[in-house]
Amino acid sequence: MLLPEPIQHLINAFSRLPGIGPKTASRLTFYLLNAQDELALDLAEALSSLKSGTSYCQTCFNITASGQNECEICASSARDHSLVCVVEEPLHVLALERTAIYTGVYHVLHGALSPIEGIGPDDLRIHELVERVRSGNVKELILATNPSMEGDYTAAYLRQQLLPLAVRLTRLARGLPVGGDMEYADQNTLQRALSGRQEMS
Ligand SMILES: [Zn+2]
Repeated sequence: MLLPEPIQHLINAFSRLPGIGPKTASRLTFYLLNAQDELALDLAEALSSLKSGTSYCQTCFNITASGQNECEICASSARDHSLVCVVEEPLHVLALERTAIYTGVYHVLHGALSPIEGIGPDDLRIHELVERVRSGNVKELILATNPSMEGDYTAAYLRQQLLPLAVRLTRLARGLPVGGDMEYADQNTLQRALSGRQEMS
């Protein structure tokens, strides 16, 4: 082994992150090695509290501070709790919040159905969504999964599961880049997709 173990360890850890290849992993590692101690220590502290300091909202499964049962959005009386936007990832909640026009609440699936990757309904928060609709006062569900093959497939599956429950189902309007990720859609595009949402039921 040419490199001391601690260096190789960090390079390997960085390499496992999405979008980071071996070269970038090495560059980041050596950057931290040469940077002031404070940067590496701060990063280490942030990483160790990332998991211990966070948990999932028991209503919408968005990320929340640990010790809180509900996220700020679910706990807010200013939000319309009868309107639920279903998204794949917590980052999509952030993207929709940036539009500043959405006043409803969310449900985070934590992924999309993908038969190819072996991701089925039990791997996502689909059962919880059905229960939420069944037991709550949800009037409309906006299916805001990604405009990708998996996202469309997930929306079609949800439609099939939720149609018998007499809830209004809508899908974000087209105009989002096909195959793309909601996270990267700009504010105007998301605003138009929300206000032009189409009936699915
Ligand atoms: Zn919540």
